[in-house]
Amino acid sequence: MDLDTFFVSCERLLDSRLNGLPILVGGTGDRGVVSAASYETRLFGVHSGMPMKMARQLCPEALVIKGNAGTYTKFSKMVTEILQESVPILEKASVDEFYADLSGMDQFFGCYKHASELRKRITKETGLPISFGLSGNKTVSKVATNEAKPANQIKIDRGLEKPFLAPLSIKKIPMIGDKTFQKFCNLGIKKVLTLQEMPVEVVESVFGKKRQSNLEQGQWNR
Ligand SMILES: [Mg+2]
Repeated sequence: MDLDTFFVSCERLLDSRLNGLPILVGGTGDRGVVSAASYETRLFGVHSGMPMKMARQLCPEALVIKGNAGTYTKFSKMVTEILQESVPILEKASVDEFYADLSGMDQFFGCYKHASELRKRITKETGLPISFGLSGNKTVSKVATNEAKPANQIKIDRGLEKPFLAPLSIKKIPMIGDKTFQKFCNLGIKKVLTLQEMPVEVVESVFGKKRQSNLEQGQWNR
């Protein structure tokens, strides 16, 4: 589960006049970076992590807000508390990102229903829009969450992980940063499908041997 444009959503809760306006939250100085960008600014190619200077050039009409860490922590805690009392195992990955292990709770449909109700409850009780992706795999769930956004949900049934990922840009795979993405592009690989069709040995010869990540090991923090 991931709160949509979290910092922006918090600012809008505090000041409803910000609704519908292009909002950037982040450093306002020369070296400032965008930490959250509303969907209105994304139409101009703005995204979080981008230098604020560049974002302002792309979207000059955007309202820039410095942000307040204390406010975001408070809202994050509210969401965390709802999740903690509602799911068996919760991993808080960041201030606005959560992994919930629902295994053993119910049949798969039951999990989806539970997650759907939870999503509605969070938005109702905190006013914050949130999205989720449900699957049998943490990485696929994270990608699905990003595909579901904003304020929506997706379920990827067991066995359908590969076709779900196939049409997506490899950029959407977690931990593929700019450098790795460039490396893939140089090889003519842009979609996950191309990667899926490549022999593992070829991929290993370019990127090195597979290393088990924490995600794959399925380590859960309570
Ligand atoms: Mg988020």
